[in-house]
Amino acid sequence: MRLQIGDVAIDRIEESLGLGFQPHELFPAYEPRMLEPVQDWIAPGFYDPTVCRFRTSIHSWLVRTPKHLILVDTCVGNHKRRPHVPRFDMRDTPWLSRLADLGVGVEDIDYVMCTHLHCDHVGWNTRLVDGRWVPTFPNARYLFGRAEFNRWDARRADYQHRPINDNVFEDSILPVVESGQMVLVEDGFDIDGVLIVEPGPGHTHGHICIRLASQGHSGYFTGDIFHHPLQIRYPELYTGFDDVPELGIQTRRRLLSACADDHALLLPAHFAEPHACHIHRRSDGDYEPDFASVQAFINGNRLPAGHEAGETV
Ligand SMILES: [Zn+2]
Repeated sequence: MRLQIGDVAIDRIEESLGLGFQPHELFPAYEPRMLEPVQDWIAPGFYDPTVCRFRTSIHSWLVRTPKHLILVDTCVGNHKRRPHVPRFDMRDTPWLSRLADLGVGVEDIDYVMCTHLHCDHVGWNTRLVDGRWVPTFPNARYLFGRAEFNRWDARRADYQHRPINDNVFEDSILPVVESGQMVLVEDGFDIDGVLIVEPGPGHTHGHICIRLASQGHSGYFTGDIFHHPLQIRYPELYTGFDDVPELGIQTRRRLLSACADDHALLLPAHFAEPHACHIHRRSDGDYEPDFASVQAFINGNRLPAGHEAGETV
């Protein structure tokens, strides 16, 4: 599907879509009663009650401004050794050919933006060529939040090891540093005045959120600030992977309020179909996702369906 926000077109590049965590595995504070108020939208698209598993996606967003082609987040990637994350280990998916199906070659990408540097958001930054990891996009600048980069820079004396990210700096970040293609950005950085970097701390300290603003319309690329739409109704649900859960809760509440006020489209990294939503503020002050309204932003060009690829996040 292609979404249109103002004069910006957005395509989704799927890496995988299917069943993932059980709710209590992803959200330590999850309680089964939380499903009752969301029954009208959560199953079967976002949760399969027959196996008690969430249904989720791993995808990138391809953003076309009038001037530039930008990739937001780059999934897990192929052939990467992820010894502590079996479902991400040595993947082999046709992500790159799905990008080509949209008429986009690797040389066409102007910018790569990563909301954070976890293994499922940086994988296609690089690919294996003749036994070496090289930047996948030869003409792109790779934009990383400065605080996020410093957190994962394994060359630093104060580097704190996390098994989930073993090898990630070496195979997906360092080759981009060494090629001179990395640019570290601060909050407020923008591309074409259309994509603006904002803080989104919690999941990681340096997690960024990318606001899209065009012709009076807006959207937010939120990475892993929201893993699953259940967190729209329950922003207090944090994941076991969050660096600072309390900060993540504040960030979710702030974004929900902003999206509801501005009728902005929420564009997360792991929601199943339709992969994006608007936010409706209920009379009791809680929020709920509005998936139906996304249809109005789709301008055709629907991708072939049926990329079910088993385990995801
Ligand atoms: Zn993720």
